Amino acid sequence: MKQLGSLVVVCGSMYAGKSEELIRRARRALYAKKKVQVFKPSIDNRYDETMVVTHMGVRHEAEPVSSVGEIWEKLQPGTEVIVIEEVQFFDQSILDLCTTLADCGKQVIVAGLDQDFRRKPFGPMPQLMAVADEVVKLRAICLQCGQPASHTYRMINGKPADFHDPIVLIGATEDYEARCRNCFEIKSEPKNRFATELKKKKKTNATGTRIPK
Ligand SMILES: [Zn+2]
Repeated sequence: MKQLGSLVVVCGSMYAGKSEELIRRARRALYAKKKVQVFKPSIDNRYDETMVVTHMGVRHEAEPVSSVGEIWEKLQPGTEVIVIEEVQFFDQSILDLCTTLADCGKQVIVAGLDQDFRRKPFGPMPQLMAVADEVVKLRAICLQCGQPASHTYRMINGKPADFHDPIVLIGATEDYEARCRNCFEIKSEPKNRFATELKKKKKTNATGTRIPK
């Protein structure tokens, strides 16, 4: 029987433990004596600590790559498990690569931020989650109130980010924290139709039905 490949997507906000989950899975593959290769986008040096997997005294560090094509080029023939970090930074062609590798019997494990700092789906993440065999969505703990957090709150030079700020900023001091939906805030976020109507209803409905919060 042909070896069955798979695509696993590990996602969530910052500080949700995505790297730990990736390391856990990579280490399991190494225990099973599988050949593992780990990649990360070279753009990413501000987002996190480089993932290092150690096994029996062997260090596996992520190979930085600048494009999806470079992953393809650096892939060695015997590799059975392909791990990709911060996968949200790659373009949509990552979808074809992951699908093709899984179809030919490889174990593909990718991790990334499912939402950007505006709470919008990040890059190729929604499509990857849709075509995956397994999605592991992790939550962090809100730094403000201690409840489970799904969002990444961003500050630039000590101030809350503006909705219209670019997703990737060069030359500014950025800080991030995990926040729940109660504590999440962002400057100049365009209100959607329902949020606007809810506000209006709350104003005009002082004596009427109570609108649940
Ligand atoms: Zn909170």
